[in-house]
Amino acid sequence: MNSSGDGNGGNMTKKAKKKGGSKKNKKMTVEQSLAAKYVSEWAFLDSNSASTSSSVDDFGVQRSHNKFADRVVFELHSHSTRSDGVLSPTALVERAHRNGVKVLALTDHDTMSGIHEALEASHKFGIKIIPGVEISTIFSPRGESEAEEPVHILAYYSSCGPTRFEELENCLENIRDGRYLRAKNMVSKLNNLKIPLKWENVVRIAGNGVAPGRLHVARAMVEVGHVENLKQAFDRYLYDGGPAYSTGNELLAEETVELICRTGGVAALAHPWSLKNPVAVIRRLKDAGLHGMEVYRSDGKLAVFSDLADTYDLLKLGGSDFHGRRSRDESDLGSVNLPVQAVHEFLRFSRPIWCSAIKDTLQRFAEEPSDSNLERIVKFGKIKYLKVGSTLNCGKDLLDLCLSSWLTNEERETIDVEVLGLKLSQTVINQRGIQVSVMS
Ligand SMILES: [Zn+2]
Ligand SMILES: [Zn+2]
Repeated sequence: MNSSGDGNGGNMTKKAKKKGGSKKNKKMTVEQSLAAKYVSEWAFLDSNSASTSSSVDDFGVQRSHNKFADRVVFELHSHSTRSDGVLSPTALVERAHRNGVKVLALTDHDTMSGIHEALEASHKFGIKIIPGVEISTIFSPRGESEAEEPVHILAYYSSCGPTRFEELENCLENIRDGRYLRAKNMVSKLNNLKIPLKWENVVRIAGNGVAPGRLHVARAMVEVGHVENLKQAFDRYLYDGGPAYSTGNELLAEETVELICRTGGVAALAHPWSLKNPVAVIRRLKDAGLHGMEVYRSDGKLAVFSDLADTYDLLKLGGSDFHGRRSRDESDLGSVNLPVQAVHEFLRFSRPIWCSAIKDTLQRFAEEPSDSNLERIVKFGKIKYLKVGSTLNCGKDLLDLCLSSWLTNEERETIDVEVLGLKLSQTVINQRGIQVSVMS
């Protein structure tokens, strides 16, 4: 479980403890408390009690017991049953809450299908959800003799999600289709190796509607007793470039970064420590527009990658990559101790990107108030407000509804609310759809 107190609490691993030291971290610097204020204000934007009870506005005054001076736990990397995680999005949110997480990014492999459910659950627990996805890509070294390698790229979006959802979704769908192909290839390679694994078993293990991955193939192998455990399946057959390894329809890593940038997301390289040639990957992806990379893990900050992030001017991020596998070496949700400055930089960098993505999406609706453009705004579940029998008098209410948890008043003012509001006030939305009144 997670310690909610001062960052370097008692349940850290020995390694991190030795490095962290405890004295100097007990007191926050002015800079840290300002960062903490910024972070907690955003995290608790929609909970009224949070802003009124906050008293961190005395610059520089140390308030060790102010709950907002404490760490607001961000979990930026997690998986649910919508990809290869064990918990449903609802159960994942519940567990995050139990572990003290206040902001959770759900980053399933190649799908955003769990975001809606996670958002629904998050209302109950007062958690903020960052809509995310972890995209499977391939890095191809240019002309060198080195082999291609799989690279995972995390994308973080605003409450309205990707601006060109269809474009992203098409790519993700293509990758997911490729996963079926890839899993089938793996099974047939195994069959050729005289391991009579059945395709049906792999599909059953993956579960309804889930594209089977390497892990599901490995589980099927354990189930029938071809190997003793998952590790053996990977070590002997399924490792990158192994005898039963196969690739799918992944995009090139650079193309993926460009796609994320184009759709209003923040792009971060996941677990660079698992790469064979991290420097080459980071250099090329930075050129393509990469914003950040993971450097924090539950066992502390990795100095090598932190230095690389500095060299290439990338945001320093991290998350548990929680799958719920119950293996001893898996980190729990919320166990990564992201320093408040790292979260602060992440938000300061991401919010303008998210803000303009939201603006784009709203603008499209204002210009053409169709059901499909409304769907783009509310695709992650805000539409439920319309289902309780109420009618929104004008589209402007919708704007407030969607943005109150995501943008501050000032940020909302920067979205030309005047213009947008005027256009949206001509629009009436009810369960039957959208009605536009005549402009005067
Ligand atoms: Zn990954
Ligand atoms: Zn992951």
